[in-house]
Formats: sequence, structure tokens, C-alpha cells
Amino acid sequence: MTPKKMLQILKAWILKTAWYIYDHILGIILGTIISAIGLIAAFAKNLLFFLIEWLQLPTPLWLAITLTCLSCLLVYRIQNRNLSCLHSPIQKSNEKPSETIEYFTVAGDKWKTHIYSNGFSIEKIPLCDEHDLSLIFVNRHWTCPAFVTGDCKTNLTPDQISARRNFAESIIDRDMRKRSKV
Ligand SMILES: [Zn+2]
Repeated sequence: MTPKKMLQILKAWILKTAWYIYDHILGIILGTIISAIGLIAAFAKNLLFFLIEWLQLPTPLWLAITLTCLSCLLVYRIQNRNLSCLHSPIQKSNEKPSETIEYFTVAGDKWKTHIYSNGFSIEKIPLCDEHDLSLIFVNRHWTCPAFVTGDCKTNLTPDQISARRNFAESIIDRDMRKRSKV
């Protein structure tokens, strides 16, 4: 066999193989495209049937379903907004952020005290130290709730409360200054 003949055979073989691959790949591509078009057409047809059936339902029914869905969505959104309003903290501009809360007992009264990095403030009305209960305002007097059952005699006028508060503030202030010196 001459080299020329060999080259001719090789050329023919390459051409044949190339045609074979081209033919098959084209087949695969065409097959895929046709299947995809078929699927899309089937889906569109189903969607169309669904829409036609939906529109052919007696008007009040589909209208009722649509309106119910819309009102559910609206109620859900309104509730969500109200809840977020309830949970968002209301910040008073002049309110100091509370760091810690401590209770100080001064002359038989227990004072809830907010301690900040730059000072402190005590609540306006104390608790009964013996019963650990906030005093309640009854008949123009600040009274321990245990007074009702006759277990407590704490019964203070607003003026007495004010005087005791000033006294407690003074004592707590001294204690806080002592503490900061340590
Ligand atoms: Zn009491």
C-alpha cells in the first residue's frame, strides 16, 4: 500500500466518523428541543384548562374565594403591624437607661432603687419591708395590702411617705458614695 492510498483511507475514515457524530448530536439536540416544547405545551394547555374552568365557576363562588383570601391576608398584615407596635419599646427621651435595680431598706420601708452609671433614683412609693408588698392607696393613706387581713399596721399619709422618701434618698446617697470610694 502506497502512502497516498493510506492517506486517502484515513481521510475517508475521519470524514465518516465526523458525519456520524454530527448526525447523532443533532439528533439528541433536536430530540431535547422537541421534548421541551412538548412539555411546555402540555403545561400551558393544563393551565389554560384550569383557568377556563376557574372562570366558568359561578361568579359568586370564585369571587368569594378570592375575597376571603384577600381579607385573610389583610387581617394578617394588620395584626402583624399591631403586634410589632406593641413590642417596640417606647423610649422616653428624658428617661435614663436603667442599669441595675436594688432594694434598700430604710427605717422599715423597702425602696426600689434604679442604679445608673452616673447616679441613682428611687421609686416614689416604697414596699412594706415585712411583707415585701407595694403599698396601695386606700382612704387617703398608703397602706400595706396585708392591712386588709389585719396582719400589717403600715398606714402612711402622702406627707409621711414624702418625708420618709427624702430620708431614704439621703441614706442611699451616703451608701452609694461609700460604695464608690471602695
Ligand atoms: Zn406589711
